[in-house]
Amino acid sequence: MIPHNQPSLGEQEARAAAAIVSSNKLVQGSQTRDFEDEMCQYLGLPPGHAVCVSSGTSALYVALNVLALQNKKVGLPSYSCTSLKHACTLNNSKPVFLDIKANTPIVETNYNSFDALIYPYLYGFASHLPKLVDKLIIEDVAQALGARTNNGMLGTLGDIGVLSFYATKMISSGGQGGMLVSKDKTLIEQAKQYLNFDQVIDQEQRFNFHITEIQAAIGRVQLRKLPEFIEKRNAIWQIYQDHQLPLMDIDDENLKHVRYRAIVMTSNVNRLINYLAEYGIRAINPFTTSELLSAENINASQLCRQTLSLPIYPNLSLAQAKYIARTLQQGIKI
Ligand SMILES: *Cc1c(COP(=O)(O)O)cnc(C)c1O
Repeated sequence: MIPHNQPSLGEQEARAAAAIVSSNKLVQGSQTRDFEDEMCQYLGLPPGHAVCVSSGTSALYVALNVLALQNKKVGLPSYSCTSLKHACTLNNSKPVFLDIKANTPIVETNYNSFDALIYPYLYGFASHLPKLVDKLIIEDVAQALGARTNNGMLGTLGDIGVLSFYATKMISSGGQGGMLVSKDKTLIEQAKQYLNFDQVIDQEQRFNFHITEIQAAIGRVQLRKLPEFIEKRNAIWQIYQDHQLPLMDIDDENLKHVRYRAIVMTSNVNRLINYLAEYGIRAINPFTTSELLSAENINASQLCRQTLSLPIYPNLSLAQAKYIARTLQQGIKI
């Protein structure tokens, strides 16, 4: 069976992790700071504008905390990872569930009232941030690391950018991991304060969301590979496009997407998932109705019923991609 998704760690990551094990320097070494600064460089930020945390979810939580959004209304799409809601409730922020624009995963922010917005870039699609007066924006780049608009890299355009290095994201720090980035260095310093609990005795709320040196060392290797990962994903996407598969896409010369997901738009989701499975290909519905954070959003409910996600990841071969494309072409014709 060709899996729907798969991590892409290799020998280099194994060697980097082994070197940390032998060094005995498991925490508070240079790997974590180097990973942060290399990410800053990749995103076009000065050094010191990023801090590693244990997951994308903890990054969201720490972002809400340092932006002082306790008891504030935080807008987020009902069509998004439940971790957005969990981060809000842990921080005592009040989530306001928003719909998406028709046939896209982009959040619709008109006609709604909230104090701050979590803006996820789902499936690797870049999009233009809404122009909101006096509202804070947390960009959730968990699925779109490396994507950009004509204004710069995603994650650097709002108040805080949140990254995830979970096993199957654009890059992984060995299974779990996350990062906060910001143009505003004081926010990053506040986040570092929040993580720093050991031998600090005061009345401030703090919590251990640190990553380890092993995770950071693996993350650094993966970040160096990110440009080639993006190229490979583009090559697979191109094969799917050349076979005229009805892919969800957003055509805008000012946006540069990464191909984190290849989403086929179809009204026959379950039939095609079963058809592909017969040929040894695992496809999934990337977001089902039962995962919606609110049932009231019409566009979101509609999108849940018409999407199918195909395998697309760096160690899928081009031959496998062609086989998947041809098989789905046949399945659609039947
Ligand atoms: C994966 C993901 C998260 C959560 O990240 P974890 O590292 O798994 O906690 C948040 N938002 C989006 C859009 C994600 O895809």
